[in-house]
Order: sequence, then structure tokens, then C-alpha cells
Amino acid sequence: MSEIGERDVRAARKRCTTCRQRFVPAAAGARRGLAAYLACATIAAAVALPGEAFADEAFARCLSGLRDDALARGVSAETFARSTGGLEPDMSVLELLDYQPEFKTPLWDYLAALVDDERVADGRAMLDRWGDTLAEVERRYGVDRETVVAVWGVESDYGKSFGKRPLITSLATLSCFGRRQAFFRSEFLTTLRIVQDGHVQSDQLVGSWAGAFGHTQFMPSTFTRVAVDFDGDGRRDIVGSVPDALASTANYLKRAGWKTGEPWGWEVRLPKGFDASLAGRRSKRPLSQWAAMGVHRVDAVAADARAAVLLPAGPSGPAFIVLRNFDAIYSYNAAESYALAIAHLADRLRGAGPIATPWPTDDPGLSRVQRRELQTLLAARGHDIGEIDGMIGARSREAIKAEQARLGMEPDGRAGRKILEALRGAPTGSGRQQGAAPLR
Ligand code: CA
Repeated sequence: MSEIGERDVRAARKRCTTCRQRFVPAAAGARRGLAAYLACATIAAAVALPGEAFADEAFARCLSGLRDDALARGVSAETFARSTGGLEPDMSVLELLDYQPEFKTPLWDYLAALVDDERVADGRAMLDRWGDTLAEVERRYGVDRETVVAVWGVESDYGKSFGKRPLITSLATLSCFGRRQAFFRSEFLTTLRIVQDGHVQSDQLVGSWAGAFGHTQFMPSTFTRVAVDFDGDGRRDIVGSVPDALASTANYLKRAGWKTGEPWGWEVRLPKGFDASLAGRRSKRPLSQWAAMGVHRVDAVAADARAAVLLPAGPSGPAFIVLRNFDAIYSYNAAESYALAIAHLADRLRGAGPIATPWPTDDPGLSRVQRRELQTLLAARGHDIGEIDGMIGARSREAIKAEQARLGMEPDGRAGRKILEALRGAPTGSGRQQGAAPLR
């Protein structure tokens, strides 16, 4: 889940503008119940304190302060007691709060796994299955079905991956320890209101460590702002109701300035000698100006529509014209790579092919099927990489490094085409094959 973790960190950082608390890591490798991190929102100076008992005491004191805030926000004493009774902090979320990935995912790896044939096929099946609902969503919100389904596919793999952490536990911990307590306190109190109002069953309230939940991975405050009851049962349930989730996504995009009937953009060819300093999502000009500069092709919408040229991998990679709807998608998660994944997946769901211009690499990224194949090959060589799930985590990267070194390749730990092809062709000659899984 490292990609989702990184996105969550970025989203949380973007949204938190008020919190200036110092964050004090007292010991690395924190586990539930350990006072590894301590910084109290109510005192100016953060103080590192030893011992599990003190963390529990600090948490209990913090919760009692939160209770007053909750009651002031209309949360009943009963809801608060039921939601927080026996609650223990989960200190592992604090590691994720400050997680700095040592391995930066190249854009082509990110896209290769998020927009692979599997996700396109699954998305087409969902377009078919939820066709009537999506037609009604289009009619009411003016956002096309392929974009809505693409967001769903990237956010939760069409409802298959919501995250596993209990929201109340994560948000209570983040409200009481670590940086950004003000931001997470507000999300925690909002979550209690969502539970109290009966929109989502509290035992279904699981999600990412930062509190994003459901098919659409909304933060609680986003839920409150834009989630809708589309199936008419009186509850806005983005966990248990696909129609509610799809309509809520469309409502989000509509409120983010979606222009009905306009594309997000498209891939373009730049003229020789194009000044790359003109590129950038915020550097908008009328399409007619881009056309005059020789950007090809820019005739799909009105010539006065304002557009930007995007060079997500620099001037030697693919180039895109992006319009207002790209910004609407971007606002969902404040990363151009994310917006491009959604936009491209939507195109693929409409039947378009892959991005035409190659990424500037001689070692392209892997789909999830290929990642699972790579993991199977690593396991066959005796590497303990955990579950073969297509997610390249720390253990898979260590195994890749070892095999790269053995094969005389640059040991960077990256899951790319070269190491996959090298392992496909190489004998399992590491001498550590005991108990190896059979190759498929
Ligand atoms: Ca509903």
C-alpha cells in the first residue's frame, strides 16, 4: 500500500495548514501501545516521555479533552462512549504520518501498475454492471461514467481494497500524538458524527491509516461536504452502497469545476525546439496559441479554451494538453501523476490505446500481472518476499537488489522489465531453492 500511503501523506500535508506542532520521535519502530512518539497539542513544547503507561495515560487524558469538543459539536455522550470505550492508541500510524519513502516511484512504474489491462478489464465489467446507475449519475452530475469508474478503480480497485485500519483508532491516535493534531482532531470528531448519524456502520469504518475510507476513499470531512445518498435509503453510505459511492465521486468532480462534455485533455506532439519552460499545469493559454506554436493536435475543443501543456516526465517523454477537467481530477488528490492515471484509465475504458510516446526509459514499468510473476520468480529463488500480491514492498525490493547484484545489474531494487526478463531467462542457481514455489 506504499503508493496509497504516500498519497495520503501528501493529502494530509496539503490540507493541514494550521498545525505547527513539533513531532518528537523518541524511538523508531513503534508498536501499538508504546510511547514512541509524544507531542501534546495542548502544550507548546513537545516533551518526550518514557513508557507505555505514560502513553496510555496521555491518550486517556487527550480523549477526555476530545470528549468536550465532541459534545460541543453535537456528538452525544452515548456515541462518544460507545465509539471510544476500550480504545487504545495505534502508534504505528505515526510512522506512516512521517513516512519518507526511500524509494521514489518513477511515473512509468506508477502508471504501469495503476492502469494495466487487468484494471481496464475490471473497469469495463463495472461499466456494464452499473450501467443504469452510471447513466443516472451522468444525467444528474454531468460527469461521464468512464471518469467516475476510473476514480473508483484507482481509489479502491473497484471496491476491493478499502484499507484495513479502524478509522476511530487511527484518527484518535493522530488526534493525540504526532504532528497535525488539529487536522486529525477535526476528522476524528467528524467521524463520530458520521457514525452517530448512521450513514456508515461503525464496524465498516476501516480505511487508510490517515482516515480515508470507502469505495471513493474520502476523508471524513470530504464525506460530510460532498457524499450523497443516491440509492434513496436515507444514508450516505460510500462503504456499503456502490450507487452512493459513484454519485458521491461525480458530485465531488462537479463541485471541483467539472465541465460537462469537455475532455480532460489528450496526448499531443510538440514541435521541434518547443520551449519546455512553457509547460506546467498552471501555465494556461488559449488552445489557439498552442496551435500557433505548432503543438499537434489542438483542434478537439473550442480554440479559446484555456489549456496547459504537461510534460510529466520531462521534454523527452509524452506530452499532454490538459484542460479544466484535468484540474478537477487533480483536486481529488493533488498529484499530477494521480490525475494522469485517472485520466488515462478513463480513456482506456472508452477504448483508447496506451499512451503513444514511450516514457524516457529503457526499462519500462510492470503491470500487476508482471509484478506477481516477478515476485513468483523471486520466491522460487528462495527470497522471503511475503505474499505474492503484485505490491512491491521493502522485502520485494531487497530480493530484487540481491538478484540484480548476482546478475551483475545495477542493484537499485526497482521492479522493471529488465530484471523480470533476466530472471525469466536465468536458471534458479542461487543455491537457496529449498521450498521454492513452482514457476507458473
Ligand atoms: Ca444511500
